[in-house]
Amino acid sequence: MGDFFERIVDLEVTAADAGALAERMVDWMVSARLLSRETSGDAMYSLQVDEGYLPGPEWARITREWGSDWIPGPVAVIVGRHDHYAGQGAVEPSAAVCPHCGATTVIIDYPQQWEADPAVWQPFSDAIGAWKHTGAGEAVCPSCATASPITAWKWADNFALGALAFDFWGWPPLTDEFVTEFAARLGHRIEHHTGKF
Ligand SMILES: [Zn+2]
Repeated sequence: MGDFFERIVDLEVTAADAGALAERMVDWMVSARLLSRETSGDAMYSLQVDEGYLPGPEWARITREWGSDWIPGPVAVIVGRHDHYAGQGAVEPSAAVCPHCGATTVIIDYPQQWEADPAVWQPFSDAIGAWKHTGAGEAVCPSCATASPITAWKWADNFALGALAFDFWGWPPLTDEFVTEFAARLGHRIEHHTGKF
C-alpha cells in the first residue's frame, strides 16, 4: 500500500448522471473481480469520501507487475462536481487554454513565480466555484474577451473539473488497455493523472 493514487476523472458526465454511472462502473469492476463489494477507509486519503472499494481477486490483471506480495488500497468513487489536482496538494494549474481562440493564459509564471497570479486566477476560481455550486460557470478569455463554460477550458498540469472520479490508492500503474476500456465504458473524455497525499 502507499500514499499515492492514480485517478481517472470523467470530464463530461453531468452531476445528475454521475451516481448511476458510478454504480454501473463499480458493478462492472466487481463482476470482473477487479474490485470487491467490501469497503475500507484504510490507506486512502481522498478529500471527498472516507471509504473505497477493496481490490478484488483479479486486480493484478489491470496493473503492471509489482510482485505477488503487493496489496493495493481501496478505490474511492467520487460523485459530485469537484476540482481535481495531480501531484501533491492543491496547486492551481499553471495555465488555461481558451476553448474559443486557443490562446494560453498563464496563471503561474514558472520559474519566475511559484504561486498563481491572484488577478489572473480569481476569475477562473470564481467560475469554478459557480460551477461547483450550480453546474454552470463561465470565464472570460483575456485574449479574445469571449466567455466560455469553465468545463470547456483546457488546463495545464492535468488539472481537471468533473462530476465523477475514481482514485486508485496504492495500486501499481494501471495498464493502458485498462484505462482505454475504462474510458470507453464511461463514454466520455477523461483526465488521467497521478498524485500523492
Ligand atoms: Zn480566447
